[in-house]
Amino acid sequence: METCSVCLEEIKENQILKTLSCGHKYHFNCFKKMVYHNNNFYIKCPMCREVNHNIEKPFINDNKQNILSMCHMGVGNLKCNGYTLKGERCKNKSTLMNYGKCHIHNKNMLKKEDYRLFSDYLYHILCSNYRWKTKIYLIDVGKKIIEKFLNDKSEVHEILQYYYRYLNDEDFHTNGEFYMNGIYEYYNLEKASKNWADYCINKNVII
Ligand SMILES: [Zn+2]
Ligand SMILES: [Zn+2]
Ligand SMILES: [Zn+2]
Repeated sequence: METCSVCLEEIKENQILKTLSCGHKYHFNCFKKMVYHNNNFYIKCPMCREVNHNIEKPFINDNKQNILSMCHMGVGNLKCNGYTLKGERCKNKSTLMNYGKCHIHNKNMLKKEDYRLFSDYLYHILCSNYRWKTKIYLIDVGKKIIEKFLNDKSEVHEILQYYYRYLNDEDFHTNGEFYMNGIYEYYNLEKASKNWADYCINKNVII
């Protein structure tokens, strides 16, 4: 019987697992907690301390699941965090990458045809060296750049080009401006929900 040395529970056949590059296996959700804590995929294996470099996505042909797998547990099943006009908590389910809201409380949902590009992008960002706070904003900005400028044939480097173009436009930068705020204005993107960003940053999760 194999056990996961993060939660100390048995590893069962039907569970989603993550095998690190050293060969040690963990529950995917336990792996994810380590990723959140570490800020990227290159965690040290709790068993042998080797640095993981297996950054493969867990699902081969299901990009919705690949996105969900890196989101906080329950995203897609949790109730919407919006409120009705009567002030009651909304009873709809939250939808994928939608600030914890349902399809009515936030209509700018990630489209099905963008799941492949967004999941590639999400994994790219999780491999990067940015701080967690920057990652959370980049995840939001990337989603909006995909929606506004790209299509289902686009690749991750095309999203990144938008960052470089912005960063290289010296006319636009003003002293001391917070970089992520600037990019929203530069491309005229709707700013991230502050509640959503604070939740993700403070709890160290993606919802
Ligand atoms: Zn576990
Ligand atoms: Zn190991
Ligand atoms: Zn709702």
